[in-house]
Amino acid sequence: MSKKPGWKELASGDLLEAGTAKEFETGDWRTLRPIKDDEKCINCLNCWIWCPDSAIIVKDEKMIGIDYRYCKGCGICARVCPPKVQAIKMVDEREFREK
Ligand code: SF4
Ligand code: SF4
Repeated sequence: MSKKPGWKELASGDLLEAGTAKEFETGDWRTLRPIKDDEKCINCLNCWIWCPDSAIIVKDEKMIGIDYRYCKGCGICARVCPPKVQAIKMVDEREFREK
């Protein structure tokens, strides 16, 4: 069995520029739109923590909205909103596009 090379024998690598999805407005992918009920929201920020697209907008430690340019409509925010609160409802996107 051949011996594995140590780190000194490895070829040096390159540094690549980090990727970003900021330029791709993934909101066009959405089929369901999260709608927040301001009356119910307790600003726990669970939705902000879990949103995979960083689409939850927070200001002064309060959830103030959803950036629909990036929200893909996955529904995670609605699932992680506390069961006794249920401040986010997923609504068929066609209801908004047909208006
Ligand atoms: S539906 Fe998904 S992408 Fe859109 S705000 Fe909720 S968690 Fe984020
Ligand atoms: S998870 Fe629900 S209650 Fe918590 S900040 Fe988001 S919308 Fe408001």
